[in-house]
Amino acid sequence: MQRIAIYPGTFDPITNGHLDIIRRAVKIFDTVIVAVAHNEGKNPLFGIEERVSMVREAVRDIPGVEVDAFHSLIIEYCQKKKAVALIRGLRAVSDFEYEFQMALMNRKLDKDVESVFLMPKEKYSYLSSSLIKEIAAFGGDISCMVPETVHNRLTRKFAEKKERK
Ligand code: ADP
Repeated sequence: MQRIAIYPGTFDPITNGHLDIIRRAVKIFDTVIVAVAHNEGKNPLFGIEERVSMVREAVRDIPGVEVDAFHSLIIEYCQKKKAVALIRGLRAVSDFEYEFQMALMNRKLDKDVESVFLMPKEKYSYLSSSLIKEIAAFGGDISCMVPETVHNRLTRKFAEKKERK
């Protein structure tokens, strides 16, 4: 039986921290589906198609990874894909409270989907999509924090925004 895991997130945009988690997850599961949430409530900088295509480009060389977008409750998406696990990344204690709550809620919704927490390399543990966007908005160097394709798109996005002002 294929063991499928879902790695959900907003990925606005995908960072080297997310990629570190994906590389760890594919060692444990046959297939890892990176599921990009529409998450309009978070008012993402990049639209859903752009976020999905950035993830696709970033994982192109990692076997066993699929990329998809989802709109529904994550547990319903897991059931649809027959996934046995939900992957989440844990950076620091600050992530714990929210992740703990989510994991217990998801277990209540479906006891057969196990939440699996993975920790990135220390050098990625301070990275977050929002911090990277803040640095990029001010023209700071983010080249070691995101894949090249994301770096280029961020630079373009903020240049467009500046032009519009
Ligand atoms: P969400 O809006 O669901 O938090 P994110 O795209 O911000 O979506 O993150 C998706 C998952 O990846 C979360 O579990 C988050 O904790 C984890 N994550 C984000 N950045 C990192 C990082 N630098 N290292 C490890 N895990 C991370």
